[in-house]
Amino acid sequence: MGVQERIKQILTHKPSPKKIARAALLGLLQKSCTPAGRFHSRAHKKLSVLSFSHAWKFFGSSSRSVFTSLFSPIEIVYAHNLYPFMLEALSGVAAKFDLAKDFLSQMERQWYTTDFCSVHRIFISVAQHHLLPRPTFLLSTSNACDGNLKSFGEVGNFYSRPHLFINVPYFRDDESVQYLAQQLQSSSRQIEEITGKKLRQRDLERSIYYANRASKAFREINELRKNPKALMYGEEGLGLLLLWGLFMGSRQGAAAAESYRDELQRRVTSTDKGIPVKKRLLWLHLKPYYDNNILPMLEKELDAVVVAEEINLQPWPELNPDDPWKSLAQKMLSQAWVGNAQHRIQNIRKAIEEYRIDGVVHYSHWGCRQSNGAVRLIRDAVQEYGIPFLEIDGDLVDSRNYAEGQIRTRVEGFMEVMEGA
Ligand code: SF4
Repeated sequence: MGVQERIKQILTHKPSPKKIARAALLGLLQKSCTPAGRFHSRAHKKLSVLSFSHAWKFFGSSSRSVFTSLFSPIEIVYAHNLYPFMLEALSGVAAKFDLAKDFLSQMERQWYTTDFCSVHRIFISVAQHHLLPRPTFLLSTSNACDGNLKSFGEVGNFYSRPHLFINVPYFRDDESVQYLAQQLQSSSRQIEEITGKKLRQRDLERSIYYANRASKAFREINELRKNPKALMYGEEGLGLLLLWGLFMGSRQGAAAAESYRDELQRRVTSTDKGIPVKKRLLWLHLKPYYDNNILPMLEKELDAVVVAEEINLQPWPELNPDDPWKSLAQKMLSQAWVGNAQHRIQNIRKAIEEYRIDGVVHYSHWGCRQSNGAVRLIRDAVQEYGIPFLEIDGDLVDSRNYAEGQIRTRVEGFMEVMEGA
């Protein structure tokens, strides 16, 4: 049995801390020994080790485990000395190990509509298979996706655990900041009731301190990547989501973000020419997590390198330890996906100018109204710059409709337009 098969077997047969440690070891060995699976960098290796050890802790201490969604304010979870675990990441892992279609078929047999985002359907199915530890509680927000209310609610019901849902307002005015800040503070009080432990001021300050260190490193990473050299492949850049989605507010998260920043700084000053780059791309939304050839084709065959990803282009503001709830609310509201699509478009325009972008790719995930609903507006804005826009339709985790031939034709056409522009 190959390494991939062994990891699959471990993941689908009641994972325990011991089994997770074995899967982690196998995964790391496979990455270190096979050319195709190599780590992109030392920082990437550190982040992978950190993620495995986090999963190990999460499975090992159910009394401290919290299910969270992408964009949840996990700084609060760390302040309460608990472990956040982003459920969407599980769907990515299922796709990576070719398990997604089994979970999705099972959901289809239960009449879950295929119109509902497959990322949500997979983690509901993973929970229904009893493959996760029972969490202390669940924490999700309506950003980027109000489907969280239902899917996290369903997983919470399944485990009979409370679901704390944070309603992120559409607007960004003072009233919205106050409304959100109150919800954050009251969520923290609910956590105190659930755990029976008071939030200590020094723990909140510690979490804010590490979140600020990580945010500073992310601001620096985004600045460094404006360099004429391409400093990292988009394939690696899109992986940074794991760093801020799982570790924001933890000491390890701050250290991992700084390690990426230092690595990029070294690449800027290195005499090595680095990554060959003919065209500079901006990538919108996420990438598929199953084995596929889209980014390798663009970046390694055609030298069209993703130099910026929308998901990482956040302002990364500082949190104020003297006014934690308000500053956390302001941070959440500064996210481009909150409110009107014009916020996303402004972010995209800024990136096109600052990163000297030659072409923009939008990966349109089936069922993601949050992202795809704005595609027409985004395309029009991109075309004002006279640069091409490529929309790739597909699914982030379900490989059943992935057709490499069709995508290749479109990618090559896109490349020709960029070369002629
Ligand atoms: S892909 Fe879209 S619908 Fe699915 S979880 Fe992400 S934001 Fe929500």
